[in-house]
Amino acid sequence: MKILFLSSEVVPFAKTGGLADVAGALPVALEHQGAEVRIALPKYKEIKAEGNFAQIGKRIKVYFIVNDNLYNKDGIYVDEEGKDHSDNLERFAYYCKEALESVKRDGFKPDIIHCNDWQTGLVPVYLKTLYRKDDFFKDTKTVFTIHNLAYTGSFDEGEWGKTGLDKSLFDINGLEYYGRFSLLKGGLIFSDVITTVSPTYAKEIQTKEFGCGMEGILKSRAYSLHGVLNGIDYDIWDPLTDKALYKNYSVDDIKAKYVNKEMLLKELGLKTGINSPLIGTVGRLAEQKGYDILAEIVNRLCDMDIGFVLLGAGEERYQRIFKKVAKKHPSNTSVNLTFNADLAQKIYAASDIFIMPSRYEPCGLGQLISFKYLTVPVARKTGGLADTVIEYNTETGEGNGFLFNDCKPEHLLKAIRKAVSVYKDKQSWLKLIKKIAAYDFSWDRSAKKYIEIYKKVLS
Ligand code: ADP
Repeated sequence: MKILFLSSEVVPFAKTGGLADVAGALPVALEHQGAEVRIALPKYKEIKAEGNFAQIGKRIKVYFIVNDNLYNKDGIYVDEEGKDHSDNLERFAYYCKEALESVKRDGFKPDIIHCNDWQTGLVPVYLKTLYRKDDFFKDTKTVFTIHNLAYTGSFDEGEWGKTGLDKSLFDINGLEYYGRFSLLKGGLIFSDVITTVSPTYAKEIQTKEFGCGMEGILKSRAYSLHGVLNGIDYDIWDPLTDKALYKNYSVDDIKAKYVNKEMLLKELGLKTGINSPLIGTVGRLAEQKGYDILAEIVNRLCDMDIGFVLLGAGEERYQRIFKKVAKKHPSNTSVNLTFNADLAQKIYAASDIFIMPSRYEPCGLGQLISFKYLTVPVARKTGGLADTVIEYNTETGEGNGFLFNDCKPEHLLKAIRKAVSVYKDKQSWLKLIKKIAAYDFSWDRSAKKYIEIYKKVLS
């Protein structure tokens, strides 16, 4: 089976979030399952590789789509001030067209083109319009995966010409979206199958609350909408081999985890005792991630006998809040407002508890990484978090983390307090850690599910 995998960010070339992790790992897992895979992504300024190709996995060819006018600037989607690049429509329309042209030039006839998020939304549209009579793609089917429905890739009607599509598609049954047009909607309507990254999110996005106005389309396509949970790449995310850590460890040598804690506390200049819980969080500072919920209680949290470390890049308003917190609690709080992969890995390893207060979460990787690093998640019960984190029962010891339901600061604080009290009971905590150490969230299982979906759509 030949698969062209399209994603605007791919580890190790370019990353702003979980999509890049998925796009770097799933193709390799598909190759493992016997598929022949190729990837295409724009050659952004930050991609330093020479030439127009790279290779990952055993023999996955990666096409860099080159266009200096469009891609040779700082920031994958936004400029330094956080504003969308004004030519994003041209940038991603060009990417979609050129991805198709690249495999065509190469004679690689894909059975499946696997598109991901709005940046690739025009591919299913192009195949069913501009390329409809092109013999090369006549047997090609498209799969469109939603990693985050809220990023709709919407543009003003005045920009329509740049899509190269007939104006008749600017219509409620086409790409029109509240007076503008959405590339994501194009992907949802024109793809042969839709998937998203967890079973719960697949259900949630068919409701008004989570549907971003697309719930009608998603409901009408419910029979071809599948939720497949993401995995994580254990070649990257494994405390036993992770080169970013102060000391590698596994469940057989938990003491070494605490070396990481001790060293990180020292490096960040925190006075938190080694026996007090270290509470970490890593994520985009965006409304989705619920950092405003955390902000409401963070001062009370930092008044407790704990250490708190935050790593996040994003919106100014959250930066301001957390900077203040760090100033107020210098002895036990570390706030790092950048994107730093190495520090992220150190935080997953050094923390005892990892917080994810997301308002919505299509899958979430932080909780899966935490499990692998023997760090216990406190999470909001939504999307992929609800599919992977199970409330800990202090009576029976069942469960693997701590959940809260409503987006209420008090409820988050209550869940953290419960986590801290279980942490203090050393025996229960050790048991809990041993349990999560046995989990397997590697990509193999998910890759098998995708292969099944591909086969079904091809038959
Ligand atoms: P999303 O894709 O919505 O941002 P996920 O939980 O799916 O959220 O994935 C987030 C990924 O990005 C994780 O690998 C996380 O460690 C990483 N990440 C997020 N923010 C940062 C940051 N500031 N520095 C380093 N890594 C980060």
